[in-house]
This record gives sequence, C-alpha cells and structure tokens, in this order.
Amino acid sequence: MRLRLPNFFGSGLLTGLWVTLKTLFTKPVTVNYPVVKETPVPRARGVIALDQDACTVCMLCARQCPDWCIYIEGHKEEQPPAQPGGRVKKRATLDRFDIDYALCMYCGICVEVCPFDALFWTPEYEYSEYKMGAMMHDKDRLQDWLQTVPEAPGLES
Ligand code: SF4
Ligand code: SF4
Repeated sequence: MRLRLPNFFGSGLLTGLWVTLKTLFTKPVTVNYPVVKETPVPRARGVIALDQDACTVCMLCARQCPDWCIYIEGHKEEQPPAQPGGRVKKRATLDRFDIDYALCMYCGICVEVCPFDALFWTPEYEYSEYKMGAMMHDKDRLQDWLQTVPEAPGLES
C-alpha cells in the first residue's frame, strides 16, 4: 500500500523516511558479495573460453568484434602426408589469441560467428583485477576457462 501524505512543506522528507523504514524490514534483493555468492544461470555471459584445437585462425571473430579487443596471430605449418607419397598439407597454427576484457562489452558476436565452435560462454565471473593490463587473457588462460563451460542443454524433442 502506498502512503500518501498531504502536500505540505517537508512531506517529501517524511515520505522518504517512510520508504526507509519499510525497506528496513523487507528481505534485501541484493546479497553480501563476496561473503555470499549467487550461482549464475548456466547461460550467463561471464567469460569466454577458447578451444585452441578447434580454432583454425580464420580471424572471423577478431574481424567481427565491434570493440576490436580480440588479437590473433598465427602461422602455417606443414603437416606430413597421411600416406606415403601423399600431399603435404598446411595447417594454421595459433601463436597468439588474446581477449582484452577491459574493452569487451560481452555482446557475444565472436561466439556466434565462430564457424568452428572454438569459443564458448562460461558463467564464471570472478576475474576482476586491480590493473587494467591484467584483464587481457591470453590463449592459455582462455583455454583454462574451457573447464567451466556448462554442458550443452539437450535437444528439444
Ligand atoms: S563478446 Fe563482443 S566485444 Fe567481447 S570479444 Fe566477443 S565480439 Fe568482442
Ligand atoms: S572465429 Fe573461431 S576459428 Fe576463427 S579465429 Fe576466431 S575462434 Fe578461431
């Protein structure tokens, strides 16, 4: 029920005090982080994980990123032929894959556009740092996040 006070000098103050009083005895909607931690929903956009083996260094994610915060470098390596006399193949190898989370706006475009399922969202969110430079995650750190990727939900029948 909303309390309506007569419109005289100071009624705004009383209304504010009434709201404070009411709020004192209601359950807070926030939690006392980091003492209390909420479990994010499985599809929460916490941090992005990289599967280095799946990445073909196609650069599509870096080109589509609106913040230009993905930095990729790679080179081609010759692969020995599968059979004697076969053709030598060249395979792209990842040298660098960094995401700067100080710039990232969590739009998810990189995850969406990757044609090789090499990028995944994980609900992990505890990676804040005291220095901006430390928000740059290299390929090994991005690979480590892979362990926290939740199982994909089953297909609807
Ligand atoms: S989530 Fe968006 S802003 Fe962040 S790295 Fe991916 S494309 Fe760039
Ligand atoms: S789009 Fe996927 S495969 Fe291509 S560089 Fe990015 S992560 Fe690697």
